[in-house]
Amino acid sequence: MENLLGYSLERMTDCFVARGQSKFRAKQVFGWIYGKGVLDFDKMTDVSLSFREELKRDFCLSLPSIIAKQVASDGTVKLLLRLEDGAKVEEVMMPYDYGCPICVSSEVGCSMGCAFCASGLLKKERGLTSAEMVGQLLVMNQVLSEYGLRVTHINVMGTGEPFDNYDNVMEFIRIANCQAGLAIGARHITVSTCGLPEGIRRYGKEGLQTNLALSLHAPNDKIRNKIMPVSLKYPMKELIAAIKDYLSTSGRRVTFEYILLSGVNDTLECADELARLIRDNDLFAYVNLIPYNEVKEMKWKRSSKSSVSAFHNALLKKGINATVRKEFGGDIDAACGQLRVKYEKQQ
Ligand code: SAH
Repeated sequence: MENLLGYSLERMTDCFVARGQSKFRAKQVFGWIYGKGVLDFDKMTDVSLSFREELKRDFCLSLPSIIAKQVASDGTVKLLLRLEDGAKVEEVMMPYDYGCPICVSSEVGCSMGCAFCASGLLKKERGLTSAEMVGQLLVMNQVLSEYGLRVTHINVMGTGEPFDNYDNVMEFIRIANCQAGLAIGARHITVSTCGLPEGIRRYGKEGLQTNLALSLHAPNDKIRNKIMPVSLKYPMKELIAAIKDYLSTSGRRVTFEYILLSGVNDTLECADELARLIRDNDLFAYVNLIPYNEVKEMKWKRSSKSSVSAFHNALLKKGINATVRKEFGGDIDAACGQLRVKYEKQQ
């Protein structure tokens, strides 16, 4: 049976109108689901009884179930969820002082093969449906409601490559952003890509005020090729061209994510080269330096605190807007894919 979660207001309206209903009907049902959190058609009392029966016959409103829940001492919440077909995905919420951002997965496994990432240990099985991404949001809201909190920001930064599952990710964003429902502000929504130029350009043309983060992780092709196979297909030159197009169509600045891996990409020369790349190409990018979350199965080591701060200072000195990402969930498996990898091994 089709899951009605995952329908944006626009799609729900088209669907209901095709069933002979007024446009207003969709707004009512959408409001029940996302505004009031009601997932039972019987409780949508201002919808006619006959249409409620029709909805019950043709649609379900089903959420992923929680397989495992870890809550770290700092309040980070990590969930391992089971989807309808048995596939498992992770999501995490980090308790910042400004709110509760979640990191949503966009695919089951990932085929981008970044050498340092635990998600790549589990090959891509399929993209998630918009319903499954909305499900992650609603389940996290249920967990957070126990603490009087709710999700305030969305980062499509969990397992998977969002631009490899473009349409479903965008449908999910439209649902989360819709004023008639959860109303999560566009500026509170970020999509993170490993660097697929076509997706970057398309995203820039959506006319949304959402954010783009790019997992750069290296200042040149030589280093990037070693750690991100996607770079062999789309070298820096193509990536920069796509970002420039994105800047001019969206008018939005980009964030570069940069994991610091000891002895790989963390020298001061790398910092200089990164600063030049940004300045010489007029990219106006923010740089988010990410302390690497070590993965047991992998050889990569995180950079020392002093290397991180030297790298950070070198960027600042060159006039680059850079921050070091705050770390959360040190006592749980908070890195992308870690919890699922551990769970699969135990089985
Ligand atoms: N495919 C997308 C989104 C998923 S990864 C992308 O590549 O951006 C989200 C971010 O987490 C990426 O920047 C990724 O490189 C980073 N990441 C992956 N494994 C990590 C780890 N062990 N420690 C720190 N960051 C990691």
